[in-house]
Amino acid sequence: MARYDYDLITIGGGSGGVRASRLAAATGARVALIEEGRLGGTCVNAGCIPKKLFSYAAHFASDFTDAAGYGWDVGARSFDWPRLIANKDREIARLNGVYGRLLDAAGAEVIFARGRLVDGHTVEAGGRRMSAQHILVATGSRPVVPRVPGAELAITSDQAFHLERLPQRVILVGGGYIAVEFASIFNGLGSRVTLVHRREQMLRGFDDELGSVLAEEMAAHGVTLRLGSQIARIEREKNALAAHLESGEVLAADAVMYATGRAPNTRDMGLEQAGVALSDNGGITADEFFATSVPSVYAIGDAIDRMMLTPVAIAEGAALVQALFKGGPRRMDYENVPTAVFSHPNVGTVGLSETEARSRHGAVKVFKTRFRPLKATLSGSPGRMFMKLVVDPGTDRVLGAHMVGDGAGEIIQGVAIALKCGATKSQFDATIGIHPTSAEEFVTLREPVAWSR
Ligand SMILES: Cc1cc2nc3c(=O)[nH]c(=O)nc-3n(C[C@H](O)[C@H](O)[C@H](O)COP(=O)(O)OP(=O)(O)OC[C@H]3O[C@@H](n4cnc5c(N)ncnc54)[C@H](O)[C@@H]3O)c2cc1C
Repeated sequence: MARYDYDLITIGGGSGGVRASRLAAATGARVALIEEGRLGGTCVNAGCIPKKLFSYAAHFASDFTDAAGYGWDVGARSFDWPRLIANKDREIARLNGVYGRLLDAAGAEVIFARGRLVDGHTVEAGGRRMSAQHILVATGSRPVVPRVPGAELAITSDQAFHLERLPQRVILVGGGYIAVEFASIFNGLGSRVTLVHRREQMLRGFDDELGSVLAEEMAAHGVTLRLGSQIARIEREKNALAAHLESGEVLAADAVMYATGRAPNTRDMGLEQAGVALSDNGGITADEFFATSVPSVYAIGDAIDRMMLTPVAIAEGAALVQALFKGGPRRMDYENVPTAVFSHPNVGTVGLSETEARSRHGAVKVFKTRFRPLKATLSGSPGRMFMKLVVDPGTDRVLGAHMVGDGAGEIIQGVAIALKCGATKSQFDATIGIHPTSAEEFVTLREPVAWSR
């Protein structure tokens, strides 16, 4: 008789939990995955995927405008929000099914219920108690809204994916990637958008110039930016909302959306009672091999609040399964994790920002360019590309690559491989460009603009 019902119970069927459960089950381990919502978690249901579909939808607006300079007359345009929502929902339902089938094929049992930790080896879900040798908490994160009077009138990204109507006037609150992405989405779809951010700089944590360049580009594309501003309260006025800024200015809107950060989903699931230590913001404290303060309980993904990104949660899940079921620990490598912001224009980044590079390496060489892409010559689009390389003058290694412009995510993914291989600036220079592309600028940046200590 086995001592436990399962070898692994995973709580949370999102990016990390599904990957870990599938990989573990594929080794022959007896795995149960407990999910209270829909398979795929935030990324599939209320994050990356629907967001990117919305972003594609929004992009058509500038494509139609740009087409004129290329000789196209695009007829009357109209946008059907309910059709976009219905098509997006259909695609997500398809993905939910794919995830279910993958788990099934691997031999993992899926239990649709809310999971609660009873002790280090026991979980309760759907009125059932079950035991496991290992328990994995992969419960993700949720949006955090500041305590502002009237904040309950506002929405977060969770509701933005299900609005019945496209709001004509939208206020986005926040300056992180979700705020700028949704500001660009609503702007592209035809809403009048104001972005209110308490800091002067958007995209904190990224290279500073990315936030400044993006602010200029978004303004050029019609988004009104209120940087260094805060909402003091929100009131309902007839059929609209009135957002009172601390400056006294009042902005009218049909929707106010907060994108002011996310906190790990760790409440009311028995973690503290079972002895699992949490940090101040509710993140599960885990060591480099994802072990929590209770030896048989592990945690990955947004719940440990390291890097809230889907590929990171997936890689953490894979590393954990390697340690538990495939013969020994493997360290997760958080260096040079590339990421993109699907604002309009896109932002792509990998490696160290100029500021981080300076503080770690002292002197740095900076190469950068801002230019009008070829496509904009005939279209007349106001957009400009921005590219920047940060280089260690001692070793010649490229420490960071940053970009604002069309296709930034696609381009930076390739550059990230070079950084992961430890590429030097001379190797970038020795690489032949693909002409005519914007990406070729990354291998033709010759003169440093700054070399400072
Ligand atoms: C609007 C938005 C856009 C994003 N865009 C990107 C992007 O473009 N690229 C990117 O890399 N990342 C993006 N992210 C982040 C990405 O979605 C997360 O980092 C990723 O989903 C984290 O995976 P996870 O497995 O930790 O958690 P999740 O995917 O959130 O999964 C957690 C699961 O646990 C379930 N759960 C929670 N508590 C319980 C419980 N007690 N019992 C049972 N089930 C429970 C939840 O229902 C959920 O399904 C975005 C996030 C948002 C909100």
